[in-house]
Amino acid sequence: MPSPASLRPGDRVALLVPGSRDYLDLVIALLAGGVFPIPLDPRLTATERAGVLDDLAPTLAITDPADVPRLLAQLPAPARHGVPLGRPIHVTSGTTGHPKGVFSGLLKPDQAAALVTEERALWGFTADDVNLVLSPLYHSAPLRFATGTLLAGGRVVGFAEDGLQAPFDPVTATRLIETERPTTMFCVPAHLQRLFAHWDRVGVPDLSSFRLVAHAGAPCPPAIKRRLIELFPPETTWEFYGSTEGQFTACRSEEWQQRPGSVGRARPGRRLLVEDDGTIWCVVPDAARFSYFGAPEKTAQAWRDTPQGPAFTVGDLGHLDDDGYLYLSGRREDLIITGGVNVYPVEVENVLSAVPGVLDIAVHSVPSDEWGQQVIATVVGDVDEDALRSYAREHLAPPKRPKEYRFVEALPRTLTGKVLRRQL
Ligand code: ATP
Repeated sequence: MPSPASLRPGDRVALLVPGSRDYLDLVIALLAGGVFPIPLDPRLTATERAGVLDDLAPTLAITDPADVPRLLAQLPAPARHGVPLGRPIHVTSGTTGHPKGVFSGLLKPDQAAALVTEERALWGFTADDVNLVLSPLYHSAPLRFATGTLLAGGRVVGFAEDGLQAPFDPVTATRLIETERPTTMFCVPAHLQRLFAHWDRVGVPDLSSFRLVAHAGAPCPPAIKRRLIELFPPETTWEFYGSTEGQFTACRSEEWQQRPGSVGRARPGRRLLVEDDGTIWCVVPDAARFSYFGAPEKTAQAWRDTPQGPAFTVGDLGHLDDDGYLYLSGRREDLIITGGVNVYPVEVENVLSAVPGVLDIAVHSVPSDEWGQQVIATVVGDVDEDALRSYAREHLAPPKRPKEYRFVEALPRTLTGKVLRRQL
């Protein structure tokens, strides 16, 4: 391991190790010294790892968990509690293509302090908080929740006896809820699904310690959302829509109950704009600007100046209602154009998932000489094609009706629960 004394502001340190309590302190210490941590999935294959490291060219790559406390111990102690002068370089999940490194650059101390204050105000982190970490720390939201809690003086739990983070399992998560009495947790819908299935077998633990449960990252099935609201204390459950690039909305469950399907309104300090073609843009303060590391063309495509300020898009599509609530309809990359008509896979999936026997469904396309693209549905469950076809005839306009149905045991999904349509 190169000497940390040689680390300079602007350097990059790739973290290819499981999350741990020290990992969080290291992230804060590096950022306070103007060094950018690059949290990466330690399970990347050698080829994937080489690809990402090639793109991001870190100064140092940490692959041995024992090097985390070692490096931390060598960093100047006061820096550990300093204000982050930047944000970690997170790599997007690569659901729609090559993963991109989201780079925000070094901030001026007042901008950095303003972002920490903004984050703290958004979720109300305080010294009394106990954050239960369920997701890997290389994802931006769980890392922001955990570091935000630590910077406010709170505690983080969720690490195994050896101090390292183990993959999510509902049994351990339930035990931690009972023993650590967490006040906050960030999760993806897939975590909730697995927790609820476990609680159906063993009973629901005491959830009264929670003041904030937030989920994001993938669409949440309505049945799961309803259980979430029913099980956790009133006014504690939230959804937000965001990406590695930033958090766009926040939605209390009570708002969702009034507007099922919505992901909420713009979070404070942000503004949402939706173009005629449905592309969602998020207007942000200057300090929240980012670029895609080493990809100036991608950065240029993502940003535009608006009279309200700089705005970026990650290519999601949707619409706003009159009160400013956002509804997502899919991703630009997934939009199917068949015979000149736009078909949003999510819309077709939502309709067909109501057919009895359908457990999971993904709508995608194949190239067609006649139509440009042709709509296909890949289905998991015990259901016959005729039932799907007749339901589609009844509920969907002709271009939206799948021309072909395929049946599989399981859909390929990312760990956060997003369907990998590219693989279908
Ligand atoms: P890549 O950009 O490399 O294709 P990715 O977009 O999957 O990867 P992430 O940043 O992990 O990378 O995911 C963000 C995306 O997740 C959003 O753009 C949106 O499509 C989806 N998403 C986030 N929150 C929600 C939500 N509450 N409901 C539905 N979808 C969501």
